[in-house]
Amino acid sequence: MYDLIYKTSTVLPEDVTLAIKKAVAREERNSVAKITLDIILKSIALSSARGLPICQDTGTILVMIEGRPDKSIFRLEESIKDAIRKLTKQGILRQNCVCSLTEKNTLDNTGMYVPQIHFEPADRPTRISIMLKGGGSENMSTQYSLPNSKIKAGRDMEGVRRCLLDAVFQAQGKGCAPGILGVCIGGDRASGFLIAKKQLFRKLEDKNSSSVLASLEKTVLKQANELGMGPMGLGGKTTLLGVKIGHAGRHPACYFVTVSYSCWATRRYVVELNQKGEIKKWI
Ligand code: SF4
Repeated sequence: MYDLIYKTSTVLPEDVTLAIKKAVAREERNSVAKITLDIILKSIALSSARGLPICQDTGTILVMIEGRPDKSIFRLEESIKDAIRKLTKQGILRQNCVCSLTEKNTLDNTGMYVPQIHFEPADRPTRISIMLKGGGSENMSTQYSLPNSKIKAGRDMEGVRRCLLDAVFQAQGKGCAPGILGVCIGGDRASGFLIAKKQLFRKLEDKNSSSVLASLEKTVLKQANELGMGPMGLGGKTTLLGVKIGHAGRHPACYFVTVSYSCWATRRYVVELNQKGEIKKWI
């Protein structure tokens, strides 16, 4: 767990780095957008080479554990917390957990419901997914209840498209663009955000198995990048690096569109463990 969290904090996933490199090639020579992306790429390379955090903001630590439910799952939870405490002491993770009652920083990145650990039973070897989700980008995440007359969004895919473009427009580059949208259509107020966040584990180059959603992802990515906000909201052709949309069953009376906005520093990895609890492979 120490190796997994250390890498998540210091090495940006290849697909995200590659998307930023492609974005640099798209931007005008000597433009603020190009200079900004160049600085981001330089920073990514330095973090990886020196084993330093990609961003000063550790973010919120989200962990998903999938596997056969047995006692080892509780040992995993303890290992994750121990690794987080150790990495916080070493300065690889910033002290990012504040008690909401006392307003005191817990100083070790653990606290009430922190880190967030979700267990999902699955009949296969244990998989751990971890994400360090930036606070600035989390502030830009949002949820729509359709219909929404303000943005003329009805309960259909056109309505969803309007919500997603509105979310990007409202962010105006805040939350450290270029970003990635994780989206859930349907679900309820709580499940919508978790399912939207889970979409962010998908690789940027993957293709949605639903042709309707694959086409919507492509359209929103293209249209969001035509809005002109650009990296950090300073103008340019790259406002988003990706759009990943999932869906969930909904109550007949409700139609939620939930957007989990992630920054360029989208830090997430998934590993599979062997029976001893060691990392067998990086997925
Ligand atoms: S939103 Fe992302 S890039 Fe911006 S400060 Fe937070 S973690 Fe860093």
